[in-house]
Amino acid sequence: MLDRLAVSRLKGVGPRISERLARLGIQTVQDLLFHLPLRYQDRTRLVPIGELIPGDEALVEGEIREAGIAVGRRRSLKVWLTDGSGAGLLLRFFHFSSQQSTAFKPGARVRCFAEVREGYSSLEMVHPEYRFSSDWEVEPESRLTPVYPSTEGVQQSSWRGLTGQALDLLGAHPPPECLPAETLARLAMPSLVEALIYLHRPPREASLVDLQARCHPAFRRLAFEELVAHQVSLRRMRAVQRSIAAPVLEGGGELRRRLRQSLPFRLTEAQERVVVEIATDLLRDRPMQRLLQGDVGAGKTVVAALAALQALEAGRQAALMAPIELLSEQHHRSLKAWLRPLGVEPLWLAGRHRGGERADLLAAIACGRARLVVGTHALFQDEVVFPDLGLVIIDEQHRFGVLQRMKLRAKGDRAGCAPHQLIMTATPIPRSLAMTCYADLDLSVIDELPPGRTPVTTAAIPDSRRDEVIARVLNACRQGRQAYWVCTLIEESEALECQAAEESARRLSERLPGVRVGLVHGRLRTSERDSVMTGFAKGDLDLLVATTVIEVGMDVPNASLMIIENPERLGLAQLHQLRGRVGRGAVASHCLLLYRAPLSGVARERLAILRSTNSGFEIAEWDLALRGAGEVLGTRQTGAVQFRVADPVRDQGLVPAAQAVAEQILGRYPDLAGLLIARWLGAREVYGQV
Ligand code: ADP
Ligand code: MG
Repeated sequence: MLDRLAVSRLKGVGPRISERLARLGIQTVQDLLFHLPLRYQDRTRLVPIGELIPGDEALVEGEIREAGIAVGRRRSLKVWLTDGSGAGLLLRFFHFSSQQSTAFKPGARVRCFAEVREGYSSLEMVHPEYRFSSDWEVEPESRLTPVYPSTEGVQQSSWRGLTGQALDLLGAHPPPECLPAETLARLAMPSLVEALIYLHRPPREASLVDLQARCHPAFRRLAFEELVAHQVSLRRMRAVQRSIAAPVLEGGGELRRRLRQSLPFRLTEAQERVVVEIATDLLRDRPMQRLLQGDVGAGKTVVAALAALQALEAGRQAALMAPIELLSEQHHRSLKAWLRPLGVEPLWLAGRHRGGERADLLAAIACGRARLVVGTHALFQDEVVFPDLGLVIIDEQHRFGVLQRMKLRAKGDRAGCAPHQLIMTATPIPRSLAMTCYADLDLSVIDELPPGRTPVTTAAIPDSRRDEVIARVLNACRQGRQAYWVCTLIEESEALECQAAEESARRLSERLPGVRVGLVHGRLRTSERDSVMTGFAKGDLDLLVATTVIEVGMDVPNASLMIIENPERLGLAQLHQLRGRVGRGAVASHCLLLYRAPLSGVARERLAILRSTNSGFEIAEWDLALRGAGEVLGTRQTGAVQFRVADPVRDQGLVPAAQAVAEQILGRYPDLAGLLIARWLGAREVYGQV
């Protein structure tokens, strides 16, 4: 009922407000009820002025002792209030009408609410909400006052009015309870209706601290229900997956054997383990959905190559996709080096292939002549047609969302048969989080690096010591080693970033006599960039000045020094990825973070974490703690699993119970499953219907 009732039916909601609410995803009264307060104010009790604490918001009442307009640096209206509890309180208004200024008469009583601040000589409130005593006959509020996340043009008073109406309707038409009564009893959670009323209008004795930390049972109950809804939806999706056929990739193993023989190294135990996990999945007649996690340099590419060869052996095509063209190019290059001797010619399809060349490449894919295709997400495009795609490999998963994965599956879907999917990421996601957000995927982890790697030593150095850093570069290059100099984004503009890199390259060449300096950035032509990178890889260049494009593209074991300028601008995961370009050989490697002082607290913390560990897993945990799940998973960009109330990190502890309840609901109360999904995921559950 409330899920069908449009907000426009509420009093005070015209087309303008409707449109603003829609911006926040609020269309129905039920949506409004699930739009929970961000925080609360306590207007339930008057605080004596003598007991005010700076930083708190408080309701006070007092008598005006003095009021007047002060002309200082900024003209302001000052009003002194006392209540006999000790010191006075200064109210300050910078914007005021003459009517307002005359209304504040000594002797009048006024009640006001605002944050308390420490002023010059007394505590202050700036622009408090206020009322004169003649305007109120009522007692202070009986409940805590909610403050809602808002959008431009919707006042808090409107939010309160609207949620008030919604709560009245809630009483008259309570939505069905979706969680089994025994579950609620066992977890000591309130009913849905109780929880909603509590969160929108908490009683005065409610703990502000618990409410704010979102750990109050009323809040946890909603988070729990949302987690259950997601688990139900993911389980249904799995069932759908299990009902789709996939080609059984049973090859003879010949190509794989030959690749292994030609490799200059042996696979690590961890690599062997995941190779088996993947190979076993590919032998099933249901599509594999596997997430392969492994730190930078853990050796995921060769694992991908072995999987691709299995598809080829079975007479199917394989596709490898990377998030950016440069990385796809790098993959193409490594695969070519490995596979050409085996008679396999990988095809590279990039955005820059146009006209006749493009048509030829597309034709090669469409007629099935190209067996292994490497590219970016451009491989999603309709013009790319695979006649017998058996396996799709996606590198750097966090940039691809659930929807894209589904689309891709649809792409290979011929006559109800979908390709297998292997998704690779160097951003490790803690297992519990993966279970919540990627519960449609199985997990494989490469948890060891190939032998012979020496850990990278990381140091943070202020910009004022740039000369020393340049001297170190000179020294390293004179000893026959190579170095990277990474210039990071100063403005949010690729053009400016490239300009900065050009400028750095020029300056560094001047200061580094005898050092051969190369430059790569996103604006160079491919051929130019290619020749610079190849030159550096071959050792014809000593120093490579680059923008963050090298994040994913380079593998040069002799490079043992990396300078990162303005590291404070990058996220932890990205810094870790960059740093992964060094430490690939046997020489001890160094990463110098050349920062511009002074650093903010968060930036300092991030650099300290980077210095303290080389483990991508640990860094991911920190990233999660510092930036939250949304950022780490990249859900904002991709539209993957998003939560309204739950937070997969904060509410981790609820996940196992949510999984159990989801099973129970699907088994015993299938009607509730539909209700839950409609309530929490609504139209977003597109993937359940593929
Ligand atoms: P990532 O997991 O970051 O994609 P890569 O696949 O690029 O890592 O591998 C990094 C480097 O390690 C490559 O030069 C690769 O050839 C090499 N490599 C991979 N596996 C092994 C191994 N078992 N022993 C030694 N070197 C390896
Ligand atoms: Mg890689």
